[in-house]
Amino acid sequence: MVDNKYLKRIFQAYYKEKQSEIPIVNLFDQREFGFIPWDKQIMNRHIGFTSKINLKKYFISNTPKHAYMSGSLYSSPESQNMQGKGYQGCDLIFDIDVDHFYTPCKEDHDLWHCKECGENGKGMVEKCPKCGKLKLKKLNWICNECLDVAKNEIIKLIYNFLIPDFNINIDKMKITFSGHRGYHLKIEDEQIRSFSSDERREIIDYITGENISFEIWGLQEKGGNIFGFSRETIGWPQKIIGLIENILSKTNVEIETILSNKKRFNLNKDLIENFINFKENFHNIIKNNHNNNWTLVGFSLNAWNKFLKRIVAEIGIEVDIPVSIDIHRLIRYPGSLHGKTGFRVQKLLPDEIEVFNPLDEPNEKLDPIVFMSEKAITQKIEILESEVPLTKIKGETFGPYKQGEKVEIPHHIAVFLLCKGVAKTI
Ligand SMILES: [Zn+2]
Ligand SMILES: [Zn+2]
Repeated sequence: MVDNKYLKRIFQAYYKEKQSEIPIVNLFDQREFGFIPWDKQIMNRHIGFTSKINLKKYFISNTPKHAYMSGSLYSSPESQNMQGKGYQGCDLIFDIDVDHFYTPCKEDHDLWHCKECGENGKGMVEKCPKCGKLKLKKLNWICNECLDVAKNEIIKLIYNFLIPDFNINIDKMKITFSGHRGYHLKIEDEQIRSFSSDERREIIDYITGENISFEIWGLQEKGGNIFGFSRETIGWPQKIIGLIENILSKTNVEIETILSNKKRFNLNKDLIENFINFKENFHNIIKNNHNNNWTLVGFSLNAWNKFLKRIVAEIGIEVDIPVSIDIHRLIRYPGSLHGKTGFRVQKLLPDEIEVFNPLDEPNEKLDPIVFMSEKAITQKIEILESEVPLTKIKGETFGPYKQGEKVEIPHHIAVFLLCKGVAKTI
């Protein structure tokens, strides 16, 4: 990237000016740090800090492009090999990142180009829909909509799972906006720190709803009837019945929209009609726990299983699974700047997250867009990428842009486009 030196300099100026605001995470002296510099895509890891001052000094004098720390605690975090580190345990980390799941807005702002056949398109694709090859160049963008989806997943994780089902104290949850497309949640708890990768896997299976069996709660076919389960069973059955009730309480038109949506239930017309006809009855059966007879024309046991799996997918949390299971993973350091956006990895208290708006945050203390200046400084840039999606930050929209376009834009927008690698200064 042509402007690495420039970006490094402004990151450095930021760290110098705001060093008092760089948070010090709990037990930082037992954590491993990793940094990616501006000039090469290699992480310098196995770094440890014994004093807060040295950690802050590192940001100012080395000014990395990306900064990470371990969820794990070690007696010698600076040891160059894992055996020598003296593993003490690992915080449980959840990473929710829209990179890993579908949002409708990706159809507007995620671009792909097939290096094999030259086809271009928008949306979330794994392989080229024309030639089937995997050689795709992707340009992923952000907007309020996908960041809201990610935020909502974190809120669901906390209030639908971690508190009611795992009884985890909210004070033990450390939340950050990742500085790009998601959020991290770290649980700092003595007991959880000792969990093995297998135990972490079990927790993840539970909160994602992976491998759920409806039969153990009573879903079965008996004498031509289908029997479901009761909402008295706490945990998943209660959550599932809750969502079914929520759907049943909607108008017929709304139900039709929900059930026919291809990305959601994708049911055919007949099944939807039968479901709507059964609505009142079904609601009563659920409410009164009346023998749980869920017999409904057209809904075989197989169809119920499919329907309930969709319900589970809506309730379960979209976490990036390896991050939670792998105890040697590093996550972004709170308060550091994200080298692909120039946004701050923003620490958030649980009661701040609900109204937090990363792209237009009115509370200066929580605002990840740190390069916005009151003096309205502008910057001239030239677009390098063939197409750059529209960017909406602080209520103002910029772009979309085409290659070769030269524009003068506010400093913080320029920093974002330069960090994204889609433009150069002129
Ligand atoms: Zn192709
Ligand atoms: Zn979006």
